[in-house]
Amino acid sequence: MTNITNFINGQFIDSNNKKKLDVISPHNEQVIATLCISNKDDVDICVSHANNAFKSWSKIDVKKRIKYIIKLNQIINDHKEELANIIVLEHGKNKAEALGEVQKGIEQIEYSISMPTIIRGKILEVATNVKCQVENIPIGVITSIVPFNFPFMVPMWTIPIAIASGNCIIVKPSEKVPLTMNKFAEFVKLSGLPDGVFQIINGTVNAVTSLCNHNDIKAVTFVGSSKVAKIVHNLCSNQNIPKRVSCMGGAKNYLVAMPDCNIDKTVNNIITSFSGCCGQRCMAASVLLIVGKQKQLLQKLITLVKTLKKGNQKGEIGPVIDELSRQKIVNYINDSEKIYNSEILVDGRNWLNNDKGYWIGPTLILHNDQNDPALQGEIFGPVLSILKVESREEAIRLENNNQYGNAACIYTRTGENAEWFQKRFSAGMIGVNIGVPVPQTPFSFGGINMSRYSTHDITGEGCINFLTNKKKITTNWL
Ligand code: NAD
Repeated sequence: MTNITNFINGQFIDSNNKKKLDVISPHNEQVIATLCISNKDDVDICVSHANNAFKSWSKIDVKKRIKYIIKLNQIINDHKEELANIIVLEHGKNKAEALGEVQKGIEQIEYSISMPTIIRGKILEVATNVKCQVENIPIGVITSIVPFNFPFMVPMWTIPIAIASGNCIIVKPSEKVPLTMNKFAEFVKLSGLPDGVFQIINGTVNAVTSLCNHNDIKAVTFVGSSKVAKIVHNLCSNQNIPKRVSCMGGAKNYLVAMPDCNIDKTVNNIITSFSGCCGQRCMAASVLLIVGKQKQLLQKLITLVKTLKKGNQKGEIGPVIDELSRQKIVNYINDSEKIYNSEILVDGRNWLNNDKGYWIGPTLILHNDQNDPALQGEIFGPVLSILKVESREEAIRLENNNQYGNAACIYTRTGENAEWFQKRFSAGMIGVNIGVPVPQTPFSFGGINMSRYSTHDITGEGCINFLTNKKKITTNWL
């Protein structure tokens, strides 16, 4: 049985706290590892090593820092399969999705390799003989608290940029999927990155609270549910010296299909969006608004969704992360049907049986009541809520009333429709004929409303701005 420990100052060491948590495979409910649950003492030790490491790491020039990242990138590229297999084992997504996730993480690392060009600063003669210069300098020890749904990609949103820009980083993986970051730590060790620059604290609420409360942690990035994003944001903002904090929350993403959309492409895209990674993506489609009478689109959607199978091969649907999550999804479907009079067009509850594992099939709900909580709350499973609307005005009103604000997408073949929605959607990330409109680097990722409790985006340029201070220097030598 693998015992997952912390990774502190280049060593895998257990917590002072002897309590352990089981890590469960969602495929078959087998215990695949035990995990240490860190406390404040572990966090204090970890932060003191990070502080020590920061003294020298922040002084090394950016080109030398990048050399470690290039080596790390090579090691990860040589071990893509191994990483993907671990993701499949602990998360449940299929192998193709896991490999896709690894590749997206690698893209983040590659972006950070351009750091010498990106953070070289600015200089201008602003008056005769007077020069003004802006330098991007590291801020110190930072922490990233990450969710279960992308055990590799989400940590890679911040780790490479943090390190490349001269910070030291402590990652707190989700207790549900700690094996991937544990493997990553082995790769960090092989890369020769100085001890203390990258560390891992495992655990749950206590570990997060201790990290957020620590005076020597200068910035916190959080990705997870809106409920916890708000807790972390408040915790960091209410310190004596308010901590820099970037919190990404949950989502409820709307897709709009106009009568002129390309039916085949639209249906395939919608299915990938709502059922990929078993719907456990903050960019997954949650609500489909069908404008006008589109019998053919709906029929094709039902037919294709019925062909989806469970498993871990390409195109197959994996299990959700745990029983709590599955029960929440089933409750939404049950209530929608019984209390809100919805029609269940494809019923994922058919996958519930005595088999081990947290399986729940892809589900299409045709709603009759706009007050149904299934249209408002984040379900985070392979469930698509469908609502027929009369006009694009009605569609935009529903999207704009959404309390979240991560993604929205319009399916159309007309530029005028696309522009109309682009201008009016309230979400932070908009797709035109793309149901998972993730802005790739160098663009930044980030929603609005309850999907983001802070001003900064989490990736790309937004992340670099968040993780560096701008030092302004004005000089006159002549
Ligand atoms: P979560 O909020 O339950 O957990 C996220 C992290 O917070 C974990 O490391 C967990 O250990 C920690 N945590 C949990 N409860 C805590 C508490 N009370 N106090 C302090 N820390 C706590 O999220 P999850 O279930 O792991 O991930 C799924 C959620 O993440 C979904 O809501 C999804 O939409 C969201 N998500 C958002 C984005 C985005 O960029 N907006 C990206 C990925 C996932």
